[in-house]
Amino acid sequence: MTFTDTHTHLYSEEFENDRNEMIQRALEQGVTRLFVPAIDSSYTQSMLELEKKFPENVFLMMGLHPCYVKPETYKQELMHVEKLLEEGKFYAVGEIGVDMYWDKSTLAIQQEAFKKQIQLAKKHNLAINIHCRDAFDEVFEVLESEKSDELFGIFHCFTGDFNQAERAINLGMKLGIGGVSTFKNGKIDQFLKEIDLKNIVLETDSPYLAPVPFRGKRNESSYTKLIAERLANIYELPIEEIANVTTNNSKEVFGI
Ligand SMILES: [Zn+2]
Repeated sequence: MTFTDTHTHLYSEEFENDRNEMIQRALEQGVTRLFVPAIDSSYTQSMLELEKKFPENVFLMMGLHPCYVKPETYKQELMHVEKLLEEGKFYAVGEIGVDMYWDKSTLAIQQEAFKKQIQLAKKHNLAINIHCRDAFDEVFEVLESEKSDELFGIFHCFTGDFNQAERAINLGMKLGIGGVSTFKNGKIDQFLKEIDLKNIVLETDSPYLAPVPFRGKRNESSYTKLIAERLANIYELPIEEIANVTTNNSKEVFGI
């Protein structure tokens, strides 16, 4: 069985002391496809080093995270993203989007950066990886304005309702399902079964949002299997089928 973690921050400081062991644990569990979203330029070097070290398993995205869109630096950061996309091999533009939880004052430039990066994804024929926190309307506003056949990707850590799920899918997105699906109050499990599995990909968002029974602790990519088990339960399918279908879905998005 091959599992795909479509969103894992392998370079995070949280893994400073045991990064190699942590990645090894994932590989041993069959989580052999690790897609790594960018945050800002300060992590680019560590991302490139990880890819070099695990060329068969680590696949990189490039982008500016909405929480790092700051008035003083975002233009320069966007130039970095643009330049790297021209030069390097990346499999998506992400994570990008809007976050109204941490800082509402930057909404206008967050949306500007989101739109600009969607256009870069289209230019390079790449998927996008969307971060959306307390900002469905603000994210959909930009997505609708960029709607086209060239727009596709993943709504990372999807936590919306059924209507929002349909809306995202109609805009070319797959839903990234992670640890929240294992929470008692996670809500997403209540309607997930009504969403065709072809629209679902697995992710951990490690080191954040660990699934039950590790809720509240550090998350890691090997736990992708726990999320697959939860989906097997929700969809009443064997875990092998969850692994296969979601891995195929991820290949469709990332082109690898
Ligand atoms: Zn993330």
